[in-house]
Amino acid sequence: MEIQQRKDKSVCSFCKKTEEEVGLVIGKKHVKICTSCAFSAVNRFNKIAEKDCSKEGPSEFKNCPSPHEIKKELDTVVIGQDKAKISLSVAFYNHYSRALLDEECEIGSRKSNVMILGPSGSGKTLALQVLSNFFDVPFIVVDANQFTEAGYFGDDVSEIIYSLFRAADENASLAESGIVYIDEIDKIRKKGGDNTKDVSGEGVQNGLLKIIEGTTVSVPIGTTDKTRASKFVDINTRDILFVCGGACNGLEKIISARLNQGGIGFGSATKKKTELDEFAILQQANASDFIKYGFIPELIGRLPKVVTFSSLNESHLLRILTEPAYSLVSEFIGLFSSNKIDLFFDDEALGEIAHIAMGKNTGARGLRNVMEDLLELLMFNLFSNPDPIMACTITKGFVLGEEEAIIEKYSLKVFREVDH
Ligand code: ADP
Repeated sequence: MEIQQRKDKSVCSFCKKTEEEVGLVIGKKHVKICTSCAFSAVNRFNKIAEKDCSKEGPSEFKNCPSPHEIKKELDTVVIGQDKAKISLSVAFYNHYSRALLDEECEIGSRKSNVMILGPSGSGKTLALQVLSNFFDVPFIVVDANQFTEAGYFGDDVSEIIYSLFRAADENASLAESGIVYIDEIDKIRKKGGDNTKDVSGEGVQNGLLKIIEGTTVSVPIGTTDKTRASKFVDINTRDILFVCGGACNGLEKIISARLNQGGIGFGSATKKKTELDEFAILQQANASDFIKYGFIPELIGRLPKVVTFSSLNESHLLRILTEPAYSLVSEFIGLFSSNKIDLFFDDEALGEIAHIAMGKNTGARGLRNVMEDLLELLMFNLFSNPDPIMACTITKGFVLGEEEAIIEKYSLKVFREVDH
């Protein structure tokens, strides 16, 4: 009897989990709460406090930012990709407003997970990062390659949920509203035949299906090592938003064949048509195309929303250098400024940087490499200067390796204060 009483003492009155399962449980005689439920309660109180009381309606639905507001946030960082940003804004609005409604009405989730198509370095991950910050939910990126390379074992896929739990600072309810981006999803497609790798791809797809559909994964608390953990907590994956993405090279041929057009692909050597054609073809992808491409129908059925990112052109790259909040140029200006150097770029120099990055065929990813290469030796020399109050101007000639950067030392002028 005494043992039973002691056991009751450590049970959370809300989630009914024991102290052994969830860590600390505190409270008074008849009502107790665990840390996870306490966090959710605080979040809920905050949301209710923020609610505009002058509007009618019982749910927190109104607190979800509108699709226009979501797009506006994306616009501050992601250049171009207008159609994709509109699609994502609507998808995220629907997902998070539904989740809030479900919380109120207990009607079960009807989430729409997303498939993102688009070439490398076009802003897919960046857009999701912006959205996870905006919604203040944990976000992880998983490379689907890691499953096929390691060989597939049933447990691997649940590692994704451990990572999300850790990204949520071990807050279970926060993890349950997080975002998982599974990149390079095309690497786990079935390619026909029955060699091990293809079977493994299908196996991974089945494993993913389970967590995407909604299951409970028991994750260790306070350690990343499951075998050593003494405490576990259950994470329900029902409301986690799963986004699968990749270039899916070759998919356009399948779509084109269906539409009776000639095929072209991202980064294809035989690019005959314009970027717009490529983008327009992928936008018409349907479930049967994905299944032909090598995805199992059940997985595709769970990814009903398809968002397409287009290749970036040179003028996009030029804008990416300077326009977004925390742009590359402002990052380097900040770095130089902390070393007492004013860094300037001629417009023509920026155009040349965008041009060189474009030639690398890695989307906006190439910009950072070009900037690092360009400024490395300057940083090496100028940051070692003991008296560095100066200006440094990057010209087109410097970018092309034809001339030196313009370095001007500021002359120090001290005025005597005189009473007039
Ligand atoms: P991917 O499409 O392969 O997921 P990322 O989103 O990771 O590409 O892009 C890599 C980097 O390139 C980003 O961190 C960002 O600095 C830059 N970038 C890519 N696309 C854009 C874009 N549309 N607008 C602004 N920056 C971008």
